[in-house]
Amino acid sequence: MARLLYVEDEEEILRTVKKLFIREGFDVYAARSAPEALELAERHPPDVAVLDVMLQEGPDGSTQTGYDICKALRDRKFRGPVIFLTARTSEQDKLIGFELGADDYVTKPFSMPELVARVRAALRRAGGARARYKFGDVEVDLDNYIIRAPGVEEERLSNREQELLRYLIEHRGQVLPRDQLLTAIWQYNPNVTTRTVDTHILNVRKKLGDDAQRPRFIETMHGVGYRFIADEG
Ligand code: CA
Repeated sequence: MARLLYVEDEEEILRTVKKLFIREGFDVYAARSAPEALELAERHPPDVAVLDVMLQEGPDGSTQTGYDICKALRDRKFRGPVIFLTARTSEQDKLIGFELGADDYVTKPFSMPELVARVRAALRRAGGARARYKFGDVEVDLDNYIIRAPGVEEERLSNREQELLRYLIEHRGQVLPRDQLLTAIWQYNPNVTTRTVDTHILNVRKKLGDDAQRPRFIETMHGVGYRFIADEG
């Protein structure tokens, strides 16, 4: 479980985004100001930081920005990815952020699935997320888009199949509604319907050598969605 430090001074956004990341399986520590953020980071060293750039003056009169927090975290040897959240879009601001060692920049207003996807991608690039799994005799290598099972040739996953399978594995044991999968993998593409999810599940199942009637990997929750049920080992 990745530990996320999240800094945001707007209460409503803070609550919404925090809830979202918890639901996505993150261990979330949220702060409203720079001093609070640095104190949390000290006590609970994060794997990744999502920092709002413009922060109101803190109760102690502090006027630090997300950039200041980033700099302070880096000074304290924090090496994980940093993603800035900002309403500002000028190139100059982005350059400041990247100079400070930011990994990504998300402009407000952002879509929640996009933010989660960016954070996951940053963690993967940083090597914080695993991408190779072994479920019994079946090996899933998401780095190389490959599934290996005994008695069959290597199966190659398409981009979407890889993303879908990754999402299922990262949320294993949870019932995932089709709508959630659609939003997570295809974002808000208007040309895509829940039928697309079903088709991709069918393909992934085939490549895993799974049987929909007696599933070992992906269980169908009728009228709802899917659940990944295999255990590692
Ligand atoms: Ca703000």
